[in-house]
Amino acid sequence: MILGDICTRGCRYCAVGKGKPPGLDPNEPENVAKAAAAMELRHAVITSVNRDDLPDGGASVFAAVTREIRRKRSSCRVELLIPDFQGDARAIQIVLDATPEIVGHNIETVPRLYRTARGGGVYEVSLAALRQISAFGNGVVPKTGLMLGLGETDEEILQVMRDVYSCGVKLLTLGQYLRPSSWHLPVARYYHPDEFERWKQIGEDLGFIHVESGPLVRSSYLADRQFAKFAAK
Ligand code: SF4
Repeated sequence: MILGDICTRGCRYCAVGKGKPPGLDPNEPENVAKAAAAMELRHAVITSVNRDDLPDGGASVFAAVTREIRRKRSSCRVELLIPDFQGDARAIQIVLDATPEIVGHNIETVPRLYRTARGGGVYEVSLAALRQISAFGNGVVPKTGLMLGLGETDEEILQVMRDVYSCGVKLLTLGQYLRPSSWHLPVARYYHPDEFERWKQIGEDLGFIHVESGPLVRSSYLADRQFAKFAAK
């Protein structure tokens, strides 16, 4: 996770600390790339806290990290999981121009629950981000993720899947929401693993090239394997 460990937002499902983030570390891109090289990584997933305090939301740091990994560990696939940059298309473009192999932006939940769960997030802004990622082409794979268990209905899940699919998303993750602390939203429902299998099938019937679905699935869960399954289809 880059750009610090303090987020400018306070999503009610997320365990990351909220508050005023510290200044940027100018050596972060180089240090992340050095770590990728030292660990001989084949696939790196880079994400961040939200940095609404920065003019470009931290997009240039995502791009710099991608380029440094290319320099120091050229065989490592780069997957970026980016915030919505408050709908700033120029910031998203900065990220895309670095041409990571995969760019994800998580839709997280259904639009009815955004206000409760994802303060600061706007469903349509996230859809627009996904649309822009998908439209970029150049081999960049668009990806998103949805949590189940916050109180959504089956119809709402299906609608979100249709919405993100119509934005061009090819790779989808579905996982169970787990409550990090008593401050966070309670789990409204635990889904049986068979239900995750059913949603995977529904997603792939809708047209997603690969759906990774299971109680413990997160966007970075076995991300290299997700990509391999995607690429094999
Ligand atoms: S914006 Fe991301 S890191 Fe920040 S609180 Fe929400 S989910 Fe967590």
